[in-house]
Amino acid sequence: MSRPLAASRRGFLGLSAAGLAALATTAPARAQTIRSTARIVILGAGAGGTAFANRIARRLEGATITIVDGRKEHWYQPGFTLIAAGLKPASYSVSQTADWLPEGVNLIAEHAAAIDPVAKSVTTTGGTRLDYDYLIVATGLVLDWAAIEGFSTDLIGKEGISAHYHSPEAAAASFRALDAFTDKGGKALFGRPATEMKCAGAPLKITFLAEDMASRKGTRGKIDITYAAQNKTLFGVPIVSEKVRMLFGDRGIVPAYDHVLKAIDPGARLATYATPDGDTQLPYDFINIIPPQRAPQVVREAGLSWADKWTDQGWLEVDMKTLRHLRYPEIFAIGDVAGVPKGKTAASVKWHQPVVEDHLLAQIAGKEGTATFNGYTSCPLITRVGRAMLIEFDYNNNLVPSFPGIIPPLEELWISWLMKEVALKATYNAMLRGDA
Ligand SMILES: Cc1cc2nc3c(=O)[nH]c(=O)nc-3n(C[C@H](O)[C@H](O)[C@H](O)COP(=O)(O)OP(=O)(O)OC[C@H]3O[C@@H](n4cnc5c(N)ncnc54)[C@H](O)[C@@H]3O)c2cc1C
Repeated sequence: MSRPLAASRRGFLGLSAAGLAALATTAPARAQTIRSTARIVILGAGAGGTAFANRIARRLEGATITIVDGRKEHWYQPGFTLIAAGLKPASYSVSQTADWLPEGVNLIAEHAAAIDPVAKSVTTTGGTRLDYDYLIVATGLVLDWAAIEGFSTDLIGKEGISAHYHSPEAAAASFRALDAFTDKGGKALFGRPATEMKCAGAPLKITFLAEDMASRKGTRGKIDITYAAQNKTLFGVPIVSEKVRMLFGDRGIVPAYDHVLKAIDPGARLATYATPDGDTQLPYDFINIIPPQRAPQVVREAGLSWADKWTDQGWLEVDMKTLRHLRYPEIFAIGDVAGVPKGKTAASVKWHQPVVEDHLLAQIAGKEGTATFNGYTSCPLITRVGRAMLIEFDYNNNLVPSFPGIIPPLEELWISWLMKEVALKATYNAMLRGDA
């Protein structure tokens, strides 16, 4: 019998408000530990991998836990939106990967270069071979900048080009470009890629924040804003899409449906979009670029991806409820790399943790795990400085508010803004420590 873990109705953001102080300061009740000599390798020390290393280190005695990640900095990516809007400095999102990891977990500061799921081994970029009994793939995703012809990351912050998904520094450079644009005026283009993406609300947030910035400066009348949507909707959950459509109407933001960015000409300031009727060009003075997103090459080359779904993207072929690989039962996915229909948010990562922990520990103990992931995805959808909508939903597009009847999800509220601006980072940090 499966046991849905989100049954508590308290989502990631519910945790923020309800128990934030406690979470940040109090160690959780000690769960039972298991003795095992299992070799567990975790690929990626981002939101998912770091949190899992902390959780599992508490639950296992005698196991060898190795985490592999070549990036020394840990990035709190939900902060990138705030940086790109000039509300936080780049340093707001940066900490050191090693500082989050518990004693007893070995960090290999290299990337995984190859995974052999048959031999059960990983080879790092430095050539080290790591044999595993259990593998947790938490590599996140890659941003395919090369797919946007004419763009290169050294253009970020110049020529009216912003790309806050890239890094904390790029988010800060993107703010400088937006600040200059909203002083001067002209045509602004926003939008999202056609692939699955992390935080599908983030392209909308930056659009709303740009509009708000121009309104506050008194330059809104000099600015045209177009939002290029990859299909005929503005968000994957129909009721939210409709709400965004209405807000766009109120705020004078023009949607361009079925427009997928494929190229820019920075000199001529022209963007080319693929549409069902062929390519079309739009002029811009400012453009925010969010490229297609895919599983990292190492995952795609290991034969771990779905063969019949997302074939251009390569997400890991896992069971949508248990996050266990469908062909290699000793492999699990946590985070953005998981090939499931929803859930590429840090909030979802929080709910991946207990599910994978349950199934992994049960397997080690020779039992069957029972926990399930219901697709919980959350996005505090900022609509202006000081206002946001607390959007939380599941695999079935049901809205699953953490505070039903208290915080209505489709209303622009100050409290929902506080969730994003204040509470989210503390909750995220508690998750990293394995405490939430
Ligand atoms: C602009 C923006 C705004 C966002 N806003 C929100 C929000 O408001 N709320 C929310 O919940 N989520 C938000 N997110 C999404 C959230 O940040 C991600 O969903 C979350 O970080 C996913 O965690 P992860 O562990 O899967 O990946 P990550 O946190 O990206 O970590 C992946 C790690 O894997 C490492 N790695 C990559 N390749 C390899 C390899 N080959 N070998 C070893 N390691 C590797 C990387 O270096 C990285 O450290 C936002 C993201 C962005 C970009």
